[in-house]
Amino acid sequence: MLCQKALALYLHWPYCTSKCRYCAFNSVVCANPDHETWRWAIMKELDCESLLLGNRRLSSIYFGGGTPSLIPANCVSNIIDSAVGYWPSPDGIEITLEANPTTADRDKLRKYLSAGVNRLSIGIQSFNDELLHFLGRKHTAAQANNAFYTAQKAGFKNISIDMIFAIPGQTGSMLLDDLEMAINLNPQHISAYQLSIEKGAKLYTDYAFGHFDMPKENNIIWQFDEICRKLTSAGYKHYEVSNFAKVGYESRHNLTYWQYQEYLGLGPGAHSRIARSNEIFAAERTSNIQQWLNDPIGGGRTSKLSKENVLSEILIMGLRTAQGAMMSTLMDKVGPQETVNFLESPKIKELIKLGMLKKSSESMLIPEQHLLKTDAIIREILK
Ligand code: SF4
Repeated sequence: MLCQKALALYLHWPYCTSKCRYCAFNSVVCANPDHETWRWAIMKELDCESLLLGNRRLSSIYFGGGTPSLIPANCVSNIIDSAVGYWPSPDGIEITLEANPTTADRDKLRKYLSAGVNRLSIGIQSFNDELLHFLGRKHTAAQANNAFYTAQKAGFKNISIDMIFAIPGQTGSMLLDDLEMAINLNPQHISAYQLSIEKGAKLYTDYAFGHFDMPKENNIIWQFDEICRKLTSAGYKHYEVSNFAKVGYESRHNLTYWQYQEYLGLGPGAHSRIARSNEIFAAERTSNIQQWLNDPIGGGRTSKLSKENVLSEILIMGLRTAQGAMMSTLMDKVGPQETVNFLESPKIKELIKLGMLKKSSESMLIPEQHLLKTDAIIREILK
């Protein structure tokens, strides 16, 4: 019997071997991370959440970070076994682990595969050593390339690679070379993120001190257009602003966020969205790693989201995708009358008239040629 609501599970591993210059994630450099204490804390959270959530169907698990390829394979295996013990996955499960090119050899990758990990996301970022150096990555292009083939030889049949564009100093030919290399590897999934300068990252202060200039807007638009054109010509479906997949290889886990389904985030700084009695609750674990390790279920905060918050989140997430924000999700989670009022607002009508939004009886979406402006369009809608 296929019942129960689907649940996606995110697990945050906060350790890295070095800090990339653009990184503003909740991660710290640690030579010998205490994986046993991390595992204990995650297990404690799992145990507690299994009682609170009750019966669910687990659709995906995502080991993110940080650098999760530093986690010992037996630790990954224990956690997967516990999670699927609490919440079965009768219709299959996607289990992703993020890997850095220099942190997992073939033997370790094989063990991850045996543990149940069936999707690997490799942080390649660029195939150009100069750009990798600028980004503060500690691997070379050759090592990134090797990491991909090592994963294939280990037996992974669903590999995603992360790339970054709009890097200061990245010329048009550098971008085209990166795209050619990425396409030649023929991964099932490619994420191409525009470099953003986030507060908390080393790049943020370097930029403030004028150490480099960011690429001009017309250059960024050209790069994005080239990425879309080349990857779609190579058979990838552009299904989210920054994500491209071969047919059937869209990230099931990330679609949970974008389609505003329920997800549970465990680990320091992890977020959750859980529905209870027709209300949506947002939970956030403490981002203080030591505090979380000491008391994984004690810190953090949970709040009930207002209908306005839910509407905003459905749009922020849904409009990033080719499918758009679904009417059924809006009707179900915000309410039929509120949805109609929102869709009939002058702001929405104006954006439709300008061609920035398209509306049908099923969804509202941003046409592909305007996807790079997604954040600005959403800001316009929500202001
Ligand atoms: S970008 Fe990823 S690998 Fe680099 S420091 Fe941040 S979390 Fe670690």
